[in-house]
Amino acid sequence: MNAEIITTGTELLLGEIVDTNATYIARELRSLGLNLFYKTTVGDNRRRLADVLRLGAARSDVIIVTGGLGPTIDDITREAVADASGRPLEQRREIVEDLQAMFARWGRTLTENNLRQTFLPSGSTLIPNPIGTAPGFLTESDGSMVICLPGVPREMKRMMADWVVPFLQERAGDRARVLVTRTLHTAGIGESAIDDRIAHLMIVHNPTVGLAAHLGRVDVRITASAPTVTEAQALIETVEDELRDELGRWIYGADGDTLGSVVANLLKQQSAILAIAETNTAGRIASSFRDSEMGVLGETIQANTLSSLAESLSPDTFVSLDRESVVAVATRLRTRSAADYALVLLGTTEPGQGFWSDDRGETWLGLATPHTVMTQRFEVGGIDEFSSSWLAIYALDYVRRQLLGQYGIELT
Ligand code: ATP
Ligand code: MG
Repeated sequence: MNAEIITTGTELLLGEIVDTNATYIARELRSLGLNLFYKTTVGDNRRRLADVLRLGAARSDVIIVTGGLGPTIDDITREAVADASGRPLEQRREIVEDLQAMFARWGRTLTENNLRQTFLPSGSTLIPNPIGTAPGFLTESDGSMVICLPGVPREMKRMMADWVVPFLQERAGDRARVLVTRTLHTAGIGESAIDDRIAHLMIVHNPTVGLAAHLGRVDVRITASAPTVTEAQALIETVEDELRDELGRWIYGADGDTLGSVVANLLKQQSAILAIAETNTAGRIASSFRDSEMGVLGETIQANTLSSLAESLSPDTFVSLDRESVVAVATRLRTRSAADYALVLLGTTEPGQGFWSDDRGETWLGLATPHTVMTQRFEVGGIDEFSSSWLAIYALDYVRRQLLGQYGIELT
């Protein structure tokens, strides 16, 4: 069953409020297993809304509309649905009675404009609104359904839960499908390089494969639709195997895994302790570990300059930006904190340096292990968010690969 969402309100078009209704309904439709192909926002304009409704009726089985059900002259959803479906408005006795009872309870008199809310396109089914004055409604015509709900998020959500979701569940019946998603996390490879390798998988329709780039890492999302979760998972597994063949070296985890949690698990398995000293990453490496993962960390130092790092090691240390220094610091940190591994990042910390600047800066990575110290130089330094996140992710991934034995030993 194909669905679409139409949210109405000029304030949405003007950017004055955020369209949280569409997001909410999209999630609900997704867990119902309905395909959502279009989301449209229209202002409070009867003709334009009717146009969009006609377009929707021609391409979707169900359209969910929010907003424009109030009593004022700019609330035009009822009229627009009447226009688009060819079902003229008719007054509904039960809404009049409900409104009269509500107003009597509040000690207020019903005004002429309140009565606008008592008219619905002929043949519509009423959708009760237990927490507001405007009821919603369902109008069916030419094999497509239009479901109209109030714009007020609280009311819309309540009516989705009480009425719309159970209704759609029943209507979708045997055609209901579930959507299952699995996300593989990669680091150390760019979006376009991934795209190059897996382009043949990205044109497949079920499961679909999509990329989402974040700072320094890229997620590969696999989404399958099937009648049952087990069947969807089986579809995902096949594609995941192919993705791992292509990208295995760069995939560090899946779904809820983070680089910190993956590295913490590897350290735990080896009963190893990692010490960390970082200069230009704002402590991002150490803070990649959650509270429950802190047990694998030994001494952690965050210094804003090379000289403050030198000071925290011992007063007579001299640290500069070169291989000798990073080896010396890593070795010293590892021995003095009795850790198995010591990860050190020494980088330039001038504001204005970084990935996107003319002066990109420089960073040295050192990883002391029980056997050796490995080093790597990056032509990136700086403390801007992009550079420091990228460096922190690269450094953690370096540790991960080392723990997995993925690097050849580079003697210093
Ligand atoms: P009312 O009876 O209150 O007039 P209505 O059905 O006519 O309800 P609107 O007037 O369109 O709905 O919207 C009422 C309020 O609900 C808006 O002022 C806005 O704050 C909120 N709202 C409307 N649409 C959305 C949306 N898509 N996302 C988030 N909030 C919304
Ligand atoms: Mg309104």
